Amino acid sequence: MLERFIYLDHSATTPVRDEVSDLMQYFLQARYGNPSSLHRFGRYAREGVEKARGQVADAIGAFSEEIYFTSGGTEADNLALLGFARANASRGRHIIMSPIEHHAVMDSGHQLEKEGFQVEYLRVDEEGLVDLDALSRMIRKDTILISVMHANNEIGTVQPIEKIGSLARERGARFHTDAVQSLGKIPINVRGMWIDMLSASAHKLYGPKGVGCLYVRAGIEIEPLLHGGSQEAKLRPGTENVAGIVGFGLAVEMAVSEMDETGRRLNEMRDHLWNGIRERIDGARINGSLKHRVPGHLSVSFAEVNDASILTGMDEVGIFASAGAACASEEAEPSHVLTAIGLTPQEARATVRMTIGKDNSWDEIGYVLDHLPEIVKQTRERTMECSGPATCAGR
Ligand SMILES: *Cc1c(COP(=O)(O)O)cnc(C)c1O
Repeated sequence: MLERFIYLDHSATTPVRDEVSDLMQYFLQARYGNPSSLHRFGRYAREGVEKARGQVADAIGAFSEEIYFTSGGTEADNLALLGFARANASRGRHIIMSPIEHHAVMDSGHQLEKEGFQVEYLRVDEEGLVDLDALSRMIRKDTILISVMHANNEIGTVQPIEKIGSLARERGARFHTDAVQSLGKIPINVRGMWIDMLSASAHKLYGPKGVGCLYVRAGIEIEPLLHGGSQEAKLRPGTENVAGIVGFGLAVEMAVSEMDETGRRLNEMRDHLWNGIRERIDGARINGSLKHRVPGHLSVSFAEVNDASILTGMDEVGIFASAGAACASEEAEPSHVLTAIGLTPQEARATVRMTIGKDNSWDEIGYVLDHLPEIVKQTRERTMECSGPATCAGR
């Protein structure tokens, strides 16, 4: 075991809360019936799943019947884009999305292009905010879907989704939002925000990995991606992940009930961390918007650094942060999000994302501020050595 570690990667995933893992354990071992079975054990499992459906629906202002459980955020995004486009192709084949969407949305868009749909990308400004006027001009008669995420995973920027939603509604297009990074952190109301489809995932809000949901407003047609039984109104067949679903329901309910208080604290800690970095390290800049930002999220780029070895240095002293998105960290390509907001590939590589969670302490933030300046200094010294004629291959 590590002597000390400080987990600052809550946008990548979070630990499961005790209350949630206790409930899941109970459903795994004592309430293991199949929700489709008609006997009492089946009914217990069904009750667990339906209670969770209500908890998720309440968290976003939806009706229970509008919630479809999936294997996570990725599947929800695929189901929203592919399922909606395929079911509505006769109405049009034009789709608009932001250029900073999660790969689950981006790559679903690429798949739809192969199927004959046309995907157009909105512009974002240097804070990552979408241009509403440009969106308004881009919507056409055959635009069937607009997909813009609520909060961005890499830079934390929160989009004006109720304005996007009402614009979509006015102009006859449907609106999907990936709310994986915002649910449980900032308020969401699908009716007040004119949202037709919304993706969520449990493991970003202290629930288990491998479960999430898609909200689909009543009356919106989508095609299933999987075929089989009649679970989830046939939109997502397969025996339900009962333990995961009940865990998701409780995790969402708890996150929403603690949202205001936790959000305030995480923002104070984020401000303290960012101010401390600015005071101690020259050439540090924050990515995204400070004003329109999800709580506890910090993304910083350091000048005069040309690789990701700050992260290695942080790891050595037990601080776990990430570059851009966790799932993209093995790619050589610079992040599409950071380059879309104007960073050069070098600046994108010299970026560290620190995302604070509910269990981080002030003491831990102090520890990071004690160690980070030296790590950046050493990385910069290596960068200087490497920028001469000598090569630094292998570093
Ligand atoms: C994590 C994440 C996803 C993917 O969710 P999984 O449950 O891990 O599949 C999708 N969108 C965003 C914005 C995310 O942060």
